[in-house]
Amino acid sequence: MEIEYMTFDNTYHKLPDRFYKEVTAERFSKPELLAFNENLSDDLGLNLGSQSDIELANFFSGQTLLKGSHPIALPYAGHQFGHFVPQLGDGRAMLLGEIVNPDSKRFDIQLKGSGQTFFSRNGDGKSAIGPVIREYILSEAMYHLGVPTTRALAAVATGDLVYREETVPGAVFTRIASSHIRIGTFQYFAAKDDLDGLKTLLDYSIQRHYPESGTNPAISFLQKVIQAQVSLVSNWMSLGFIHGVMNTDNMSISGETIDYGPCAFMDQFNAHQVYSFIDRDGRYSYMNQGPILQWNLSRLADCLIPLAHSDKKKAIEMLNSELATISDLFRNEWIERMKRKLGLVSGQAHENDEKLITSWLDYLEKEELDFTLSFRKLENLLVDNDNPSDSSFKQTTEFDTFKTAWTNRLKDQDLELAIVKEKMNGVNPIYIPRNHQVERAIQQAIVGDLSVFNEMNQVLKNPYVYQPNLDFYRVTPLPEEEVTTTFCGT
Ligand code: AMP
Ligand code: MG
Repeated sequence: MEIEYMTFDNTYHKLPDRFYKEVTAERFSKPELLAFNENLSDDLGLNLGSQSDIELANFFSGQTLLKGSHPIALPYAGHQFGHFVPQLGDGRAMLLGEIVNPDSKRFDIQLKGSGQTFFSRNGDGKSAIGPVIREYILSEAMYHLGVPTTRALAAVATGDLVYREETVPGAVFTRIASSHIRIGTFQYFAAKDDLDGLKTLLDYSIQRHYPESGTNPAISFLQKVIQAQVSLVSNWMSLGFIHGVMNTDNMSISGETIDYGPCAFMDQFNAHQVYSFIDRDGRYSYMNQGPILQWNLSRLADCLIPLAHSDKKKAIEMLNSELATISDLFRNEWIERMKRKLGLVSGQAHENDEKLITSWLDYLEKEELDFTLSFRKLENLLVDNDNPSDSSFKQTTEFDTFKTAWTNRLKDQDLELAIVKEKMNGVNPIYIPRNHQVERAIQQAIVGDLSVFNEMNQVLKNPYVYQPNLDFYRVTPLPEEEVTTTFCGT
């Protein structure tokens, strides 16, 4: 049965055969709608408002094929924790198709957990409900925090069980992305020495994401991806976010956050924080995200060598000079974001700004303070420049030194305190999806109660605004509630 509720305009499917494999969704016992993101659906221009929950559950578990949809699974490769795997690919995901929204932006609609594909290897192609609930909450929270990200359109329970460490309810997640092209997609074709494939992928990626490209497409493409990913990772870090599995297959060339696995927003600040159970060496710790970003982009540059110049040596030189810009770009962008969080908004650079930021973070780390709430509480110090009230912070020598330097720096910029406060409150959230609450949402969803899931989605729609009736979600976990380890759970 084919139904026309959205107009697909598929372009990836028109690429050569080796770019994808056709796929059919598994038949599920009793698909039931857990969530449908109506606002997003409307923004995308989908005509789904009048559909019943049953129809939506059938669409978003792949049971009803939408008209114009040609489900495909995409191959990609990737470095997983530094080790190259030449073929990964969508092992539990299928791309339903692409749609163009009323603003002429193109998006992929993809199901995750819809069954086995050509790329499933030994996996069952399915998702447990936990990771689905998790990705729904986190990706929507990320969006409302203002960070580029894939989004959650729907979550459907399949009515079947999946087997992980234990038996858990299965579910399917519907993800919206500006594309699913990863660094690993380039690596896939490069590893096969498929120069035509690489060239086709580069042309396609430029056309889809960075159409205003310079005279050397490979070089200007690398520049654009560098800019997008530097901006993304510095943005994550300004919010205390740890992706947890920054493998090259989990880094989108669009610069969107993708693949919410063992990721987490930090509670108390620790520069070396790691949550992921599998990240034993701390490769993807909070602090390491900058250096890893650079490493990943170098792997993209490796793939672009044959496309940058016919003389290999020259190509490497050109690509290297782009890679050499990353650490300064990243450092500057990070400083800019942290400055804004501290209310330093006037634009002019100050040689001591980095020292000021570092001294504040050192204080948070030493006193084991909550990253998110500490930034937000800083505004309490801004009652009166000459007589700051600082009762909400523990008074230590480090704090005093920071406070004096900070208040002097604020005086220098000669802006009204009310304006400074307003700007700070626009970049320092009150609410983040805290691990212990995400865990609670998952545990309840497993037993059929979606109240925490729904409340969290509600409160996280306005992370910068105080919400008295949902304020429960603001606070740090009690010691016994604290989540110290996260799992991929796939
Ligand atoms: P991830 O760690 O989520 O980035 O996934 C890494 C690779 O494992 C990707 O190729 C996934 O498609 C694949 N994968 C993860 N879970 C499953 C599963 N349940 N069945 C099949 N493939 C999977
Ligand atoms: Mg992945």
